[in-house]
Order: sequence, then structure tokens, then C-alpha cells
Amino acid sequence: MSGYIDIHTHAFPDALAPATIAHLAEEGGIPAWTDGTVAGLLTSMDEAGIEKSVVCSIATKPAQFAAILKWSQTIRSERLIPFPSLHPGDEQLLVHLRELIDAGFTGVKMHSYYQNYHLDDPSLYEFHGALTEAGLVLVIHAGFDFAFARTRLADPRRIAAICRRFPKLKLIATHMGGWEDWDDVEKYLVGQPIYMETSLALDSLAPPRLRKMLLSHPVDYQLFGTDSPWTGQKESLAKLTALDLPPKLFARITSANAHALLS
Ligand SMILES: [Zn+2]
Repeated sequence: MSGYIDIHTHAFPDALAPATIAHLAEEGGIPAWTDGTVAGLLTSMDEAGIEKSVVCSIATKPAQFAAILKWSQTIRSERLIPFPSLHPGDEQLLVHLRELIDAGFTGVKMHSYYQNYHLDDPSLYEFHGALTEAGLVLVIHAGFDFAFARTRLADPRRIAAICRRFPKLKLIATHMGGWEDWDDVEKYLVGQPIYMETSLALDSLAPPRLRKMLLSHPVDYQLFGTDSPWTGQKESLAKLTALDLPPKLFARITSANAHALLS
């Protein structure tokens, strides 16, 4: 298969989607491009010509683990690859990691702002070691977040530190390694063997600067992501296309690298 893969999207259970989308849109001051449901995401994918999406959940409390895991199992399909969420404050963190692996999931999503932790907190070394050993993909929020004060919880320096400590950890730094922290992205991440995806960078960065970053980063470590519903999938793909990257690099970003990582 060589279809496009969006490595970073969100959807919510039908019963929760309207209120969740309204709340998050207001909190972040950003409009939603889908209605937040799985059906809405699939419609968006069809319109954009995207074959598969990784659907990231975020457990804002440890107790949400089971419900998110269960919902993730119900939406899993040929086109949707759910990444359930683990909470760093979960007393059963390693047990739940094992449960998630046994249920056949290939990745997990975490978010330093919604889960209130420093990405490189030493108390999580054992957990990051276990993730590495299991070969699981870890999608983390990277950089500042439009819904939170600008404290550094998951900034490029912390990302570089955790990747140095766990060089085999399949960590994906969203938002090109650090939303609105672009100088540090260039200083600590660009050129390093660290996975980065394009979401929000396509909207926030001047195209020549983003293009330069992509051309300076290892070709195997770049992925296409949109953070849908917070940007449009079709519009994001058009913005990436407009960067006029070498065709081989464009193909790696939109498809080949994600296929390799998820297989
Ligand atoms: Zn996101």
C-alpha cells in the first residue's frame, strides 16, 4: 500500500463529540474542521484522499485508561489506527502498558500539558524503557500548546534529552518538534534521528523556513500529521504540496515512513 497516512488526528465517542469539540475549540481559541466523530474524520479523509489516520486519545486522568482502551478497540479498522493513552500519574502504568500491548495496539499518545508532567521526568525512565523494549510508538505533544500557559514541559531540549537516553524509542514529536518554539527546534532537533510530524507547523511557520527544516532533517524521520480536527486534512496536504519538496521526500513524508513505522 502506498496511500497517504495522517499520523496525528483526534476523534471522540459519538455521545461526547459535540460537547468535547465545543469545549476544546473554545479553550484553544481554534475552530474545529470536523464534528469530532469517527464518521466526521472518515469523511475528511475521503475528501483529502487520505488512506489511513492514527487516532490519538488523551487520558486526562489515570482512571480514563480502561474506557479509552475499550473505545479504541471498537473504532480500530483498516483505515483507522487508534493510539490509546496512558497517564504518567497512573499507579498501574506498566500493567496498563502491558494490557495495551496485549490488545494489539502499536502506539500510545501522551500530552505533557493535559497530563501535567515534564517529558523527561526521571521517574518515567522505567516506563520509557519498557516502551522502547516493546517497540511501541509514542506520540507526544511537542512545544507550547495554544490552550495553556507557556511553561516548558515538552520542549525541544527535553525531547532531545529523552531521545538521547532512549535512542531506540520510537518517539514522534508532533508539531515539527515544538509548536511556537521554532528556534529551539532548529537548535536541538533538526538533523537528529528524531521523528517529527508536520501538524500546525504547516499553519504557523513561514513556508520557506518549514521547507528548509524538512530538507535539513533525516528523510526517514519525517511524517505527515494534521492534528485534525484542529486543522483541515485536505488543506494541510495542499500546504505540504505547495512547499514543492523533492517528490521522493514528499512520498516518504506522506506515506512510506509511516507505513514503515506502523508495520
Ligand atoms: Zn493533537
